[in-house]
Amino acid sequence: MLPLATALAEAAAAIRSCDECGNLDSRNPCGVCTDVHRDRHLVCVVEQVGDLWALERAHVHRGLYHVLGGTLSALAGQGPEDLNLRPLLARLEAGGVTEVILALGATVDGATTAHWLTDRLKPFGVAITRVGQGVPMGGALDVLDDGTLAAALRARRPA
Ligand SMILES: [Zn+2]
Repeated sequence: MLPLATALAEAAAAIRSCDECGNLDSRNPCGVCTDVHRDRHLVCVVEQVGDLWALERAHVHRGLYHVLGGTLSALAGQGPEDLNLRPLLARLEAGGVTEVILALGATVDGATTAHWLTDRLKPFGVAITRVGQGVPMGGALDVLDDGTLAAALRARRPA
């Protein structure tokens, strides 16, 4: 057990938050930010590091990320000052980013945060998009909740 415990302690001590995107890695800037094969025009904004890792596992985003560290939440008393926003604004100010993808949760707080972020980022003149919501892959319609069904119908597109 001791070698395992030592290895875990060493790993925990080496992990730090990336100053540029908020990802967790043993390097700062992190492996994603320093990957030269990534599309630096695209920045995908997520709530938590786990969301970033989920997108990485799915190999669906080849751009950069930004981890907010949460959402605005009236109930939890989380305001804009509690979010990791400054590095994202600095990156947009530096130029080069053409699209910010908001990949926030389909919750009231996620939607509130997406609206707020859209207003906050509009002055930079970049495209701001949101991930779609609707029928999950392999999902049957009759088991979906009303909110998901409504979102799926609103997000319909030409067949
Ligand atoms: Zn990073």
